[in-house]
Amino acid sequence: MNVVKPIKSVDDLVMAGLAAPVDRAALEEVAARYAIALTPVVTRLIDRADPDDPIARQFVPDAAELTVAPEERADPIGDHAHSPVEGIVHRYPDRVLLKAVHVCPVYCRFCFRREMVGPQGLGTLDAAAMEAAFDYIRSHQEIWEVILTGGDPLVLSPRRLREIMEALAGIAHVKIVRFHTRVPVVDPEKIDVALMSALKASGKTVYIALHANHARELTAEARAACARLIDAGIAMISQSVLLKGVNDDPEVLAELMKAFVEIRVKPYYLHHPDLAPGTSHFRLTIEEGQRIVAALRGRISGLCQPTYILDIPGGHGKAVVSGSTVRATGDGCYSVSDYRGGEHSYPPAD
Ligand SMILES: *Cc1c(COP(=O)(O)O)cnc(C)c1O
Ligand code: SF4
Repeated sequence: MNVVKPIKSVDDLVMAGLAAPVDRAALEEVAARYAIALTPVVTRLIDRADPDDPIARQFVPDAAELTVAPEERADPIGDHAHSPVEGIVHRYPDRVLLKAVHVCPVYCRFCFRREMVGPQGLGTLDAAAMEAAFDYIRSHQEIWEVILTGGDPLVLSPRRLREIMEALAGIAHVKIVRFHTRVPVVDPEKIDVALMSALKASGKTVYIALHANHARELTAEARAACARLIDAGIAMISQSVLLKGVNDDPEVLAELMKAFVEIRVKPYYLHHPDLAPGTSHFRLTIEEGQRIVAALRGRISGLCQPTYILDIPGGHGKAVVSGSTVRATGDGCYSVSDYRGGEHSYPPAD
């Protein structure tokens, strides 16, 4: 078998047979705006015989990204307005994002921070900026949880991760450290003893939120990497984006959520796609999303139910968009719909 190399450019894509030479010019234009990267694991997962392959759709650039819809914006969830110091986003009182790095092992074509990540993005916080970020966390007693995101924090070396965990270990009011990452799926070999020991910090509970959008991403190697993390005492939750042409189907989504539960990763959030530039080909309507998510109820175990979330543009935080099943009918009475669509009054009339 050929050695599969990391893909980082349009030339690499053409050479790997993942892009047609006739599309080169348009894709170069995409590449000038948004970073490209596929790890060998992801490249091997792509079914080249399928023009609608859900893995390719997530990572292989498309000329459709050049079309920017009027409602789209560079900072779709309004991180900037809530950033008191470089690398920190403090929107909710009890938790902050710590964006130590703006590099990822893969670049998702629908990324909500696509204007900030990549080789031309915001880069990695230097030592002084890191210290200022820790000072901010130290001086805000209300911060109970630090969420490392970016970029993908697990691209950092075990040495850098250990430094971060040691700094956080010294802050008594921080109890939870959460990482948002794709690494266990896209580069599972990176989850080794050195990395796992770096993630330990005395007195802190570590959570990893795994980003995956299709059950096929959860290969035997990815499952083994998650098992190593969980066996090392790290709790895992999932994070997915509801994407047209990838997982906008109750069957496909059910398979993904069941696969998470089977590997001890508790389904957490299913995000409605954000208004990132050049991503309209991935977006469905909220109504379509609600219909898909409602179809999971009853069909699969309660363990498998994610919360369907919309990040309100402008920095107003997250809102639950799962359709409501309860409607007030007056006089303290309600109509409640069951998972088959049947209506029941509460309290019961008889
Ligand atoms: C999404 C987000 C969080 C995490 O929210 P949870 O609901 O706790 O997962 C925290 N801070 C910011 C700024 C966020 O955007
Ligand atoms: S891994 Fe996350 S931050 Fe990186 S490109 Fe994908 S969605 Fe964006």
